[in-house]
Amino acid sequence: MGLVHFDVLILGSGVAGLSTAIKLAKALPNKTVGVVTKSYENESNTKYAQGGIAVVWDKLDSFESHIEDTMIAGDQLNNKEVVRMVIEEAPDRLKELIGWGAEFDFDHTGDYDLGKEGGHSANRIIHHKDITGFEIETTLLNQVKKLSNITTLPHHFAIDLITDHHINQKIKSFKKEAINCYGAYVLNQNTQEIDTYVANKTIIATGGAGQVYASTTNPTIATGDGIAMAYRAKAQIEDIEFVQFHPTALYQPGVSPAFLISEAVRGFGAYLVNKKGERFMLEIDD
Ligand SMILES: Cc1cc2nc3c(=O)[nH]c(=O)nc-3n(C[C@H](O)[C@H](O)[C@H](O)COP(=O)(O)OP(=O)(O)OC[C@H]3O[C@@H](n4cnc5c(N)ncnc54)[C@H](O)[C@@H]3O)c2cc1C
Repeated sequence: MGLVHFDVLILGSGVAGLSTAIKLAKALPNKTVGVVTKSYENESNTKYAQGGIAVVWDKLDSFESHIEDTMIAGDQLNNKEVVRMVIEEAPDRLKELIGWGAEFDFDHTGDYDLGKEGGHSANRIIHHKDITGFEIETTLLNQVKKLSNITTLPHHFAIDLITDHHINQKIKSFKKEAINCYGAYVLNQNTQEIDTYVANKTIIATGGAGQVYASTTNPTIATGDGIAMAYRAKAQIEDIEFVQFHPTALYQPGVSPAFLISEAVRGFGAYLVNKKGERFMLEIDD
């Protein structure tokens, strides 16, 4: 194929990549959006998310309470502006997903069934059984299929961003503001050829890096490729030391990813205990 052009190139087909693709394609119907993804098009962390989406939905719950819980869970190191933005936008984003066809479980009153999870002081977890991520990923892919200006390219592995020095531009400065991105080099795993994808805008949505650790509940695709590409392109990488490890998983040495034991079990009242039955976490984090 050699040279491929899209107006916008998105790397990754999880919730971040697909929802961005949908919004862009709807807002800019005359522009083309390419989504390259290194495995099957639904393979992602998103697909495996279980417990659900934390959102202030109950009238008795409040944004302030959700923000406070989140700040406590983050030991007050969180960027409060971002926490507020995510929490206050969550109900609208959820309605958007519902509008796109996502289905969530109802309780006996006919409203959404709100679960409770560790770290939350209120019931605010909207879920689709215990396969919420699969429902979201499927909904997003169905939407993508309806938009003729989005092309998804499964089994296409983004290798590196194309920046000034790849195209013999004279590099004026290594300051991040001075470096432009022109697309990415992508390995087509079907042909084993590396093609040049040129785009006006390139968006990295390649997810996390859980697989760099011996024990993780993240799927094998989570190898931090996007973070590494951005680092090589001299982008600023922030807060890389903050990695979420899910507190409960099935202990099976050598098995990766580890089978995740849902957060919902603690919401239903389960405790973390050692083999003597003692609640050891109370001494570490109350
Ligand atoms: C087992 C499990 C349970 C979870 N449960 C919950 C939950 O209940 N609630 C919750 O809020 N969160 C949960 N999470 C976390 C949540 O799933 C993630 O935070 C979220 O899905 C991240 O979305 P993303 O789009 O950023 O990344 P991902 O969904 O990981 O998508 C990244 C995409 O990029 C692709 N990619 C990566 N590298 C390349 C490359 N070099 N070239 C091309 N494509 C590439 C991947 O194949 C994938 O398609 C859970 C995660 C796991 C693993």
